[in-house]
Amino acid sequence: MFMEWTNDFTPPPADDRRRHYPILADPPSVELHPCTQGVLSTGSRKLQSAVFQIATGHYFGADYSSKFRPTAGDRTDCPRCGEFYTANHVLEDSNCYAIEREGLLDALLKHTLATFTGGQKLAKFLHTNQVFLRPLDPIPSDIPPEPDP
Ligand SMILES: [Zn+2]
Repeated sequence: MFMEWTNDFTPPPADDRRRHYPILADPPSVELHPCTQGVLSTGSRKLQSAVFQIATGHYFGADYSSKFRPTAGDRTDCPRCGEFYTANHVLEDSNCYAIEREGLLDALLKHTLATFTGGQKLAKFLHTNQVFLRPLDPIPSDIPPEPDP
């Protein structure tokens, strides 16, 4: 069955960093990818979904909102620092989540998405920090006032 899925899979374009995520790019196997097995071992469907959404680029982040929901008014700035709120920003290259990542996630997302332990740790990070599990809350000034009763 997994080989059939692999045959149907269209890899991301050559300039897309997801193409280098082992969970998507490793050669086909008759078993689930080790990272997938690690994620599944957490037993949380919500966390499992979030990890797979991140790996495929269909997650609650700014790049997805900008590409697929440009007129929806989704918040796209990081609530902590104001930078563009992407998986790479939160999980790899920003200082604002560096303390939370320390000792848990590899420096590069492609390394985290390569191993059983990486899958478990990424799920733990998402749970602990409650990131990418839902759309960002709107900026308080953007919330319309309650109508008068
Ligand atoms: Zn930030």
